Amino acid sequence: MNPTTKTDTPATYFSRELLAWYRASKRTLPWRRDRDPYRVWVSEIMLQQTRVDTVIPYYERFMARFPTLEALAESPEADVLKHWEGLGYYSRARNLQAGAREVAERYGGRVPDDKAAVSSLKGVGPYTAGAIMSIAFNRPEPAVDGNVMRVLSRYFNRDEDIAKPSTRIGMEKLAASLIPEGAAGDFNQALMELGALVCTPRTPGCLTCPVMVLCAGRLAGRETELPVKAKAKPPKPELRVAAIIEGAGAHAGKVLVRQRPDSGLLASLWELPHVLLDEPAVKPRGREAKLAAAAQPPVERQAADAAELLRRLEEETGLRAVARRWQATEEHTFSHLHWLMRVYAAELDLGGDAARGAAARLRLPAARGGVPNLGAASIAAEGLAGAALYEAAAAAEPQLPAGYAWIGRGQMRELAFPNLFAKILYDYWDSIGEEEDEG
Ligand code: SF4
Repeated sequence: MNPTTKTDTPATYFSRELLAWYRASKRTLPWRRDRDPYRVWVSEIMLQQTRVDTVIPYYERFMARFPTLEALAESPEADVLKHWEGLGYYSRARNLQAGAREVAERYGGRVPDDKAAVSSLKGVGPYTAGAIMSIAFNRPEPAVDGNVMRVLSRYFNRDEDIAKPSTRIGMEKLAASLIPEGAAGDFNQALMELGALVCTPRTPGCLTCPVMVLCAGRLAGRETELPVKAKAKPPKPELRVAAIIEGAGAHAGKVLVRQRPDSGLLASLWELPHVLLDEPAVKPRGREAKLAAAAQPPVERQAADAAELLRRLEEETGLRAVARRWQATEEHTFSHLHWLMRVYAAELDLGGDAARGAAARLRLPAARGGVPNLGAASIAAEGLAGAALYEAAAAAEPQLPAGYAWIGRGQMRELAFPNLFAKILYDYWDSIGEEEDEG
């Protein structure tokens, strides 16, 4: 860091030193290769709520598949979601594509150099608009997110609650006043970089900070107290029970999945059929509680789970199933919800004993709960008897409701699943020895 000059104010010192530090030591990141507005836009949307290290491989893959705004606008939504799979907050991907389509239709495929127009695009809030305008067009617009508010609260020793919208507006004014002439893009990125690398949430690295000399928060010994932020409501815990319904006959080796509605939480993504239990839930806290929650439930609990799951599934879909075993318990926290999900392997109840028996015998059940493993050679040896049983099973097979599908492990590559269900399913395929096929 450099000493202050006679004419320095905390603000001028901050702007100058921060910019110099950034220009000398900025990280090489894939979205910094140029200032193409589309690339800046994609990166800023991906970086919301997500760390840089996590974003990099997703960004590279996404840009390889959708290298231009037109490519993104013209692609099917399912393809976009598939390339977003694992990043979470999937409405970001849908909004990004909706925004890209709007730019393609209204602005000939070029992101407009116009703050009002950019701000009106779907999914583009004040932060993203500021980032695009400053980084891509070098316009003196602030880009203020939680990281930037943390840095400014500390440097200027400000006590406002950063969870309040009025604080954000005040911080945007402050950030705008700090932008050095002609350097909006670099300055805004410098602020983000300082928040990400040095002025971090829990342990700010003040001794390596380029603006430590005049940092009022540090001088007051308050760097770890700031920013002030009212506690958000904790995520609401929910207890859910899911079924891995194993296919038989023509669907041997497959499981039943369904697509979520095209709006709301995890819209349009694929999942296992599951139900919300109508009983109070608590979020397991601490290692012991998490281990206990993940362990195999007592037998009575399993029986009650399975009965409720299969009853509700039949009510909702008309499909009758029988539970075979507890498979796993997983949890996932969304911003407002926490799901604890117990998962049971099940099979469709095909009605008559003959059909059920046929279905069971025609599966490849090496690790599937004690059903004898006949395998292809044995089935062939059974000859006509086997064929008759197969036909009985196929004839008894119920119609799937809309949005449901049988998939094998290979099809996991084509459909987009939220992390929770992807983990459950891949663990399941591994547990039954179903390997990833090539290609
Ligand atoms: S001196 Fe410390 S608290 Fe102040 S801006 Fe730098 S890292 Fe943050």
